[in-house]
Amino acid sequence: PLVLGIETSCDETGIGIVRGRTLLSNTIASSMDEHARYGGVVPEVAARAHLEALQPAIEQALGEAQVSLQDLDAIAVTSGPGLAGALMVGVGAAKGLAVSLGKPLYAVNHLVGHIAADILAPENGADSAPLEYPTIALLVSGGHTSLLHVRDLTTDVELLGETVDDAAGEAFDKVARLLGLPYPGGPQIDRVAADGDPKAIRFPRGLSKASDLAKHRYDFSFSGLKTAVARWVERAEVAGEEIPTADVAASFREAVIDVLVTKALAACADRGVPRLLLGGGVIANRRLREVALERAAAAGVAVRIPPLSLCTDNGAMIAGLAAELIASGRPPSTLAFGADSTLPVTE
Ligand code: ATP
Ligand code: MG
Ligand code: FE
Repeated sequence: PLVLGIETSCDETGIGIVRGRTLLSNTIASSMDEHARYGGVVPEVAARAHLEALQPAIEQALGEAQVSLQDLDAIAVTSGPGLAGALMVGVGAAKGLAVSLGKPLYAVNHLVGHIAADILAPENGADSAPLEYPTIALLVSGGHTSLLHVRDLTTDVELLGETVDDAAGEAFDKVARLLGLPYPGGPQIDRVAADGDPKAIRFPRGLSKASDLAKHRYDFSFSGLKTAVARWVERAEVAGEEIPTADVAASFREAVIDVLVTKALAACADRGVPRLLLGGGVIANRRLREVALERAAAAGVAVRIPPLSLCTDNGAMIAGLAAELIASGRPPSTLAFGADSTLPVTE
């Protein structure tokens, strides 16, 4: 099916068009620059930016895909989770489009969408290869860090564990701020860490001690790590030392990556599942991609990683997931649904 996906859960206005598992266009307008000076996303600013960006983004996506609105088989939209006001803009626009065009409408879960980005990933061997089930999935984004056991992306997603405090992306953003780097912090840390030694400082790996693993084998914690980095920097400042920003960034990044990959591969081993899907904005981290591929290969686990452009928020992953829902025979959503800012990954 030819599907147009609308994504407005945070600060990216994403419009994607797919034909089944083939990506036709992926337009992203970001209001990131408007939030940068506040050090984080301002919900009202994001919602207004979506309102302004939607129409031109839709036109651009249609143009790049060389299709018209009448050609579409369905409209898909992120209904949650995310910022309520931002989500409402996308949901309202999608309903308007679907009703006026007489096309079916699919409400899509943003978090499952991040994982579904792997379906469209052409760089994972065979072009648009179907997913193999069951698979473990590691979702690492700005608001979530979760380990999932996926038996079917459209019907059966089990939550194995998640962060008990900060999300990994949030930790990247907070540590970047602490190091005087601009928002969003993930790409900044990645850039600065390139010249650093990941072994320079041994930062804590959250919930990794034997005593923690009993209860929190698949859970994550990053607030202790963030505090440890803050303490380290404070101590160095008080001692009048120059802060080795590259080493701090590289060591912090290594601690996050180590825990993410270790726990994901533990889930694969425990469940006897030799497949791992990665998804979410933090998967754009070059070092994480590298370490995950290396260690999974050593463990005999096949990994699928979305291309960089499909890691952070985009409309293509929403359209792609809707295309899977349609192929599985799922009926369209009724117009009764609304924005659900706290929608869990299992729904
Ligand atoms: P959620 O999907 O949980 O609702 P979100 O949509 O805001 O949250 P994403 O857009 O998926 O999150 O990801 C944004 C996060 O990814 C930010 O925290 C950002 O710092 C992080 N990020 C982006 N690029 C990188 C990178 N190269 N390395 C590490 N983190 C990164
Ligand atoms: Mg974002
Ligand atoms: Fe996201």
